[in-house]
Amino acid sequence: MNCRPNCGACCIAPSISTLGKPAGAPCQHLTGDMRCAIFDQPQRPACCGGLQPSVEMCGENRDDALHWLDKLEHATSNLSQAIQN
Ligand code: SF4
Ligand code: SF4
Repeated sequence: MNCRPNCGACCIAPSISTLGKPAGAPCQHLTGDMRCAIFDQPQRPACCGGLQPSVEMCGENRDDALHWLDKLEHATSNLSQAIQN
């Protein structure tokens, strides 16, 4: 599937450690029209380039995607805490 215009959910919901971006906060490189300002530039994190749109993640609308990514963020954060403890 193609990335939905004006969504940006995957640039908001997850934490991105290489950018110092906390979960739920818009990335500093996210533009007002929900595009990546550094899309073609080397400083774009590899994890961004590796993330592909999918029916599961993107859902039917932006709220679906934010909700799914938020659940994933919490699941992986709990997992990494469990591994560290
Ligand atoms: S969640 Fe999906 S549709 Fe929304 S910006 Fe990310 S890839 Fe695009
Ligand atoms: S660097 Fe670009 S693709 Fe990655 S989270 Fe920020 S705005 Fe999104």
